[in-house]
Amino acid sequence: MRPEALEAMLAELVAVGNPSSQHTSGRRARRIVEESRESIASVLAVAPGDVVFTSGGTEADNLAVKGLYRARRSAEPQRTWVLSSSIEHHAVLDAVEHLGAHEDADVVWLPVDGVGRVDVERLAESLVAGEGRTALVTVMWANNEVGTIQPVAEVAALCAAYGVPFHSDAVQAVGQVPVDASVPTTLAASGHKVGGPLGVGVLSARRSAAIEPLVHGGGQERDIRSGTLDTPAIAGLAAALTAADADRDERVAQVRTLRDELVHRVVGEIDGVTRNGDPVDCLPGIAHLSFEGCEGDALLLLLDAAGIECSRGSACSAGVPQPSHVLLAMGLDALTARSSLRFSLGRTTSESDIDRLLDVLPGVVARARRAGPAR
Ligand code: PLP
Repeated sequence: MRPEALEAMLAELVAVGNPSSQHTSGRRARRIVEESRESIASVLAVAPGDVVFTSGGTEADNLAVKGLYRARRSAEPQRTWVLSSSIEHHAVLDAVEHLGAHEDADVVWLPVDGVGRVDVERLAESLVAGEGRTALVTVMWANNEVGTIQPVAEVAALCAAYGVPFHSDAVQAVGQVPVDASVPTTLAASGHKVGGPLGVGVLSARRSAAIEPLVHGGGQERDIRSGTLDTPAIAGLAAALTAADADRDERVAQVRTLRDELVHRVVGEIDGVTRNGDPVDCLPGIAHLSFEGCEGDALLLLLDAAGIECSRGSACSAGVPQPSHVLLAMGLDALTARSSLRFSLGRTTSESDIDRLLDVLPGVVARARRAGPAR
């Protein structure tokens, strides 16, 4: 966590007061919540009233996808189409699949090109084909595995032309690239991706957007998301986001330079390595690489044993490594997809971290190649 976030959070963890209470302590907590809402709104370029606090990115995505769909569908029952990019995070992907499996939604998965950018022409065709029948479009701001930034403004313009609500999952983008949350109808952000605490997030939702709540109760947060507000986490999120916004240009330039060096050196020093994602329109802190002849899990565990932590975008199902849906959608074959790793760089990454990786990685790749891909 950023020190600013920790400080703001610690101060609130020892304070008393439910922000929905009317007594002095409650009003004090409410003031913290509302000031936090204002600073978050200002970073996201929306009105404070648009900011709805949630328990994180996953809840914000579920609230938007299911809430927008259900509200639109009950107002106009013929609107059963949901158009979603095929590279969404599971927070969106599984929510969309749930609507398809249990609530009669007709899901159209929009393809992406080889670098993971959604096909806007296909979206336009689908909006024409589904005119009067589309309930919702969902396309993320930037992909969490390969980092490719999506054509959000073009998607928003198309959705506006067809009067269809548009949700964008900006969990990875906020704090890394300029994000104007007023562009889509709703937008999800998460505390722990911006140097804030885990377990808090935001759904920025236009006041005009009809959203059915998922959680019913005390009517907090415009009655869209009931539950006592987590003042410490909200204060921490606001402090982190404000700090991330203030140093973004400088931090991003530094992270991008290190990321480019990492990619250049790994590709230059180890045979059979390819980079995935858009090399230009890409989040600064992600390097996504495929290592020919290796199993990604083997690489990950060998690196972890050497004190280097990285990730795979894919899940393990019953112990069998599964290729990432994002990489498959980009046209990679299953073996290549499974040979891939995501290296994430952040505010505290240094030149010596890159040196350390390059000391270890060639040996790790050689070992993983000897073991070969899992069957
Ligand atoms: N969406 C994206 C793109 C993410 O990368 C993540 C988390 O990694 C989420 C949603 C889920 O957010 P949270 O961890 O706050 O639930």
